[in-house]
Amino acid sequence: MPLYGAVGAMWMPMNTVEGRLPWLDDLNPEQRAAVTHEGGPLLVVAGAGTGKTRTLAYRVAYLVATGVDPSRILLLTFTRRAAQEMVARAAAVLARSGLSVGTVWGGTFHSVGHRILRIYGAVAGLSEDFTVLDRGDAEDLMALLVQELELRDADRRFPRKSTCLDIYSRCVNAGDALEDVLVRQFPWCAEWEGELRSLFRHYEERKQGRRVLDLDDLLLYWAELVTDSAVADKIADRFEHILVDEYQDTNRVQARILRGMRRTRPGLTVVGDDAQSIYSFRAAEVRNMLDFPGEFAGTTVLPLERNYRSVQPILATTNLLIAQATQRYTKDLWSARGDGARPVLLTCADEADQDRQVIERVLQHHARGVPLHAQAVLFRAAHLSATLELELGRRGIPFRKYGGLRFLEVAHVKDALAFLRVAENPMDEMAWFRVLQLLERVGPVTVRRAMGHLAEHGHDPSAIASLKAPGGAREGLERLGALLGELRAVPELAPAEQLERVRAFYGPMLGRLYENPEARGRDLESLIWIASGYGRRREFLVDLQLDPPNSTSDLAGPPHKDEDWLVLSTIHSAKGCEWDVVYVIHAADGFLPSDMACGTPEEIEEELRLTYVALTRARDHLHVMWPLRYHTRRAGFRAQHSYAQLCRFFTPPVLATMECVASAPPPEEREHLIDIDEDITARARRRWD
Ligand code: ATP
Ligand code: MG
Repeated sequence: MPLYGAVGAMWMPMNTVEGRLPWLDDLNPEQRAAVTHEGGPLLVVAGAGTGKTRTLAYRVAYLVATGVDPSRILLLTFTRRAAQEMVARAAAVLARSGLSVGTVWGGTFHSVGHRILRIYGAVAGLSEDFTVLDRGDAEDLMALLVQELELRDADRRFPRKSTCLDIYSRCVNAGDALEDVLVRQFPWCAEWEGELRSLFRHYEERKQGRRVLDLDDLLLYWAELVTDSAVADKIADRFEHILVDEYQDTNRVQARILRGMRRTRPGLTVVGDDAQSIYSFRAAEVRNMLDFPGEFAGTTVLPLERNYRSVQPILATTNLLIAQATQRYTKDLWSARGDGARPVLLTCADEADQDRQVIERVLQHHARGVPLHAQAVLFRAAHLSATLELELGRRGIPFRKYGGLRFLEVAHVKDALAFLRVAENPMDEMAWFRVLQLLERVGPVTVRRAMGHLAEHGHDPSAIASLKAPGGAREGLERLGALLGELRAVPELAPAEQLERVRAFYGPMLGRLYENPEARGRDLESLIWIASGYGRRREFLVDLQLDPPNSTSDLAGPPHKDEDWLVLSTIHSAKGCEWDVVYVIHAADGFLPSDMACGTPEEIEEELRLTYVALTRARDHLHVMWPLRYHTRRAGFRAQHSYAQLCRFFTPPVLATMECVASAPPPEEREHLIDIDEDITARARRRWD
């Protein structure tokens, strides 16, 4: 499983003129101008479905066809899969000219940053064998330091570990001072400013002392390297062309990286849509895109206005929806595809009814020839598909879910990987904590002693066997020392084989540590299956941490030809994708917009953009659904329900473009229903009077 989407083995440079590239005729004049653009930086600002991603893929093909060495092209995307798909598309286009694409550098900012740091990091004082802390580990390190520094106070609640990391991350990514971030984004934590400052200083020191980098560091060190170091020009010169998709969701550090990377060459193409900016919680800034021409001298700005994805009635709805945004730069879209069905707004009686309605419509579309995987159900938060998943399971309808808890965030998978991480970098304290606490009779006190003991033994992991520990723990420590010594001694042993050895040690503990040991054992199988695609341990670990599989389907191997499945996805994970039929569920206020993100007008506006992203994924049919009632089960058997409000962004003008239907009972029956519900529960209670 290569990190960098490489397609084709041969590359044949060929100086050719546009006229000899017939596939340029697939593009409209504006797209073609972007694809064949020569000279300075290029910014394509354009709405959803106008072919931005496709334009970038064709530009890669064009550059290769006109003689640019593919290994000097860098393609930055939001997921690895997106990079692979774009390179595959470029390969298909080039094949029509009898060319192949060769090996293009491609992936997320994080994975490319990691690769750059492995090559040039020594200049920044990074050790050869640094390892990466993913978000969960970084949170755990924060928690550990809060404890060590005794920052808690009996009377006041110290911010949670995830909040600490959010504040830290916001400061370093946006380049803002701690006091400003606290006042603006985390006012309820402002009283802890001094403690947080001290926490973050220790966090920095501890990471450096332990040779670990967190995810933010991968970008920060990269930015530093290309801004001000002896190798800055060298790194910048490595790439003749840099192309970035979804630029509206990059942050200031990423913009700094691009500035540094373009010190010696002008080749930079970025595409984005300000109306789809949905990651401000990661300090992404739509300003990045709007400031681009000012930051990169000689920028050409190209708009695209024709939408090739959706039929006109869907665009009529989405144009009006996004017209509510107070800040907006891209224009209304018009469809190159013409007329089609009006979007449907379906009011359901309750959640169960919504699930039934989704399934009924999915099956209807399927019967008319739309495969399941050309249909997607989208929702604001991962947990919102729980009841639908049960119902799909009950009816035997296969589905795949994107977004939500990732495979690698599951405790036992993290456990298994921690063994390999210790073998890779025996100074990785968080990995040690994880591994040691799996052993019987080993708790935090022994773990802390173990860290001192290892330091005294030059961080040789097999030295853990000689740690003085309570009787019951000794045998475990000895076996662990032997295992880790073995893994450390033969780093070239295939990662799958290393995991097999870990499983022999760790597998039998699952029953003692967790519920459901059989299912967890199967996850270890999956992990070994993924590892079998890798030749080196480091590559395997890094790939998994930086660009983890984000759906269980990524673990299932290549699908069979006759396999079909319905897509379930969070809206965030649906970015850049499209389906023939889209169902947006739980379009009720509190869920969409999420009541967790309605604190400020800016947050509400981001929820509006998120709704826009969801709706603009649809090609032919769009169904927006909301349950009129939500059932909440409180203590005992008393079932309660509350009435929902339709998502506020569906204003009367927006609704006028939709076909509004109700599967719920009419309002006069509603009153009656309340009476019945109350009546039954009251009667049931009286039974015990
Ligand atoms: P988003 O903002 O959602 O990321 P996008 O601007 O990147 O959208 P693409 O995904 O590149 O848009 O294109 C949307 C759809 O339109 C794709 O199916 C693509 O193949 C098709 N498309 C784009 N341009 C053309 C064209 N000139 N002719 C035919 N189809 C096109
Ligand atoms: Mg796109």
